[in-house]
Parts: sequence; structure tokens; C-alpha cells
Amino acid sequence: DYGLREADPDVRAIIDKEKQRQFRSLELIASENFTSRAVMEAVGSCLTNKYSEGLPGKRYYGGNEYIDELETLCQERALAAFSLDGKQWGVNVQPLSGSPANFAVYTAVLKPHDRIMGLDLPHGGHLSHGFMTPKRRVSGTSIYFESMPYRLDESTGILDYEMLEKTANLFRPKLIIAGASAYPRDFDYPRLRKITDAVGAFLMMDMAHISGLVAASVLANPFEHCDIVTTTTHKSLRGPRGGMIFFKKDPVLGTALESAINNAVFPGLQGGPHNHTIGGLAVCLKHAKSPEFKAYQNQVVSNCRALASRLMELGYKLVSGGSDNHLVLVDLRPLGIDGARVEKILDMASITLNKNSVPGDKSAIVPGGIRIGSPAMTTRGFTEKEFVAVADFINEGVQITLEAKKSVSSSKLQDFMKVVTAPDFDLKDKVLD
Ligand code: PLP
Repeated sequence: DYGLREADPDVRAIIDKEKQRQFRSLELIASENFTSRAVMEAVGSCLTNKYSEGLPGKRYYGGNEYIDELETLCQERALAAFSLDGKQWGVNVQPLSGSPANFAVYTAVLKPHDRIMGLDLPHGGHLSHGFMTPKRRVSGTSIYFESMPYRLDESTGILDYEMLEKTANLFRPKLIIAGASAYPRDFDYPRLRKITDAVGAFLMMDMAHISGLVAASVLANPFEHCDIVTTTTHKSLRGPRGGMIFFKKDPVLGTALESAINNAVFPGLQGGPHNHTIGGLAVCLKHAKSPEFKAYQNQVVSNCRALASRLMELGYKLVSGGSDNHLVLVDLRPLGIDGARVEKILDMASITLNKNSVPGDKSAIVPGGIRIGSPAMTTRGFTEKEFVAVADFINEGVQITLEAKKSVSSSKLQDFMKVVTAPDFDLKDKVLD
């Protein structure tokens, strides 16, 4: 039984290169993070070998006594991480990732072609919330369900609750989906609940991006107002790549919602759960109850505010004029450049972020903005001071992009890259193994 270096040097070499890339670069993708060594140990363990279709105590395979113990522990920790009472909320920790978790909810509470409303993708929503273009139903969600997206108020960059209310009253959706992939503000859950109740729909919150911030009570609590809450586990929560679905144990609905969701995950959409992921998730959820985790999430938000302030000081226009959470969305259109070019130039200097559409964009292929997130570099030990420097680097990259567009010399780019890739450039590697 050989280790990877002996058994497969090719794959080992690729992993080593990726590790170096992660180590070297400023990771600013808002949906990424560095999980802990302990989580990675669980993910890389013998748990991957075991089949355990079903739920704890009700499996379709033998030999599951320890897997039952693990999944039960993971469920308990998931409820504890969000301070939920097991009599009022249940959780399924088996979804393979965020999109499958969302689709499981849809198949649990909807019939094919029932109506849904989620935030439009060009306004910050996620594909799995029902994205479609005028020409094409892009996401499976929009193929199997009838989707009417809601949007931001383009003048403020804030969710247009009034328009959502009007549209919901006309469209009469069966499910309203809150949550986003690129929205720098928190959600008004009481208002969303009121809109949802008026049309007799379910309210689901997809807190994938912000679940770490919610666990640390840095943002509003969706559980007080929603029927269902889904999340990925690998973004601000800092766990392994996976998904969870929380469902309300409603006195009126009884166990109907619980059974529908559990059955939608298995046997509806999945087979055997990824027990190695559930092991890693249990480790991450234990950490989510620690004072260090709360301090980390507070730092994520402070860092993002420092980044936002510095960018605004430098004259940048931010969608919604700032940020309440872990990300900022910069509108580059006033400068006459697009996000794709800036992403590329910054990538050359090992600054990793992503191009993103901003409200009012004409094309999603050449979007007018960039999305910048603070969770990953906060894990690496960055504080406000470093995030001010990050804003300055991004600014340099944008200036170089502007110059490159005017075909002025590329020597500035070389200088810039020399600074950010120099060995003494302090990346504070705290977590990477
Ligand atoms: N929901 C939201 C809000 C997301 O931002 C994402 C991914 O970025 C997902 C769901 C999908 O997660 P996954 O990529 O794990 O399917």
C-alpha cells in the first residue's frame, strides 16, 4: 500500500502545484476558504470506503454502527452550530453539495412545473435558484419548475422587496427562495416571510455564502422566519465540500416536511452518502461553536468593511454602496473596463477573484464588475491593515488594465507582479498544510 508520491507521482505533482498556487496567491473568491487540517484528515480517511444508504438506524447495508454514530453526531452538531432545538428543527447532512441540496428541497415541496421565485443570477442569485435566459432554461431548476426571478432595485443595489411583493401576488409561487451568491447586504427575513405568507408559499433561505456568519450571529438569523434553510459547507462555514438542509418541524405540518426532504435526498436524488465528508463536516461544526470561530467571523466582516472603505476612498463604485457581510461587488463600468480583463490581469499577479455581473449589465459573458471576498484570507490571518493593502493591489491591477487597454507599456505589470509575488510578501500561512 503506497503513498500517493510512490503510487501516482503524476497526481501528486498536480496536487503539489495546486497547493503552491493556493499558498502563493491572494485568494479572494468569496465562495472559497481554507479548511482545517483536522477537517482534511477526516475527509481523507477510511470513511470514504463505506456504503450507508438510508439514515442512522435505518440503513440498507450492514456494518454501519460507527457511521450511524458519526452521522448522528454530525446532525446534533449541525443543530447546535445554529442554536436550534431538535424538537423544532431537523437536518439532513447528506446532500453532496449546495446545488443538489437545493434541488432536493424543490423535489420535496414542489410538483413538476410548480412556480418558484429566486433572485435573478445577473443580480446576484445562484444558478440553482431557477436561472433562465430569454432564450434558454439554463438551470435544471428552471427546466423542471416555472421560474420568475426577482431582482435588485438597480438605483440602490438593494433587493427590491416591493417589486418582489407585487410580482409574487401576481405569479403566486409555491416557493420563494432567499439567498444569493453575490449580494453584499443582509436579508430582511420578516419582510420576506410576510410576502411569502400572503401567497401561501414556502420560504427557503439558501445561506450557502453566509452560513459561517449566521452561525456566529454576525448576520440576521434566517431560522426565525424560514421553513427551510439550505447551505453549502465549504464557504464561510469553512468545512469540507458538501451541503445541508435544515427543515422546520412544524406543529401543523407534523413530520410531512421532514419525510419529504429526507426522501428527496435518498432515495429521490442520491445513493450512498459521502461519509468522509460527513466526518469532515462534524469536525467543522464542532469548531463552529468555539470562541475562535466567532472571532474569525467578526474579523471576516471587519476585513470586508476595511476593503470596501478603502476601495471607495480610491473612488470605486460598490454595488449597494458598501457591504454588511463577507463580500464586495465592484462596478467597473464607470471606468470603462470590464471584470473579465481585470480578473485576468490580477490572476497573472496571483490575486484570485472573479468577474461578476452587476445590476444593469448587458452581457453576462463580459460582466461589468468583480466580486471580492474576505473569508479565505481572513483564515490566513489577514486583518484590516492587510485588506487595505489588498484594495491597493487591486487598484494597481485595475490601473494596469486601463493602461493595457490603451496599449501602454507592460513594464508596470512586471513591477506589480514582482511586489506581490516576492518571497517576503507576508501571506501569513496559518492553515495550509
Ligand atoms: N447556493 C449558493 C447561494 C451558492 O453561491 C452556491 C455556489 O456558489 C451554491 C448554492 C451551489 O453550491 P455547489 O457549488 O456546492 O453546488
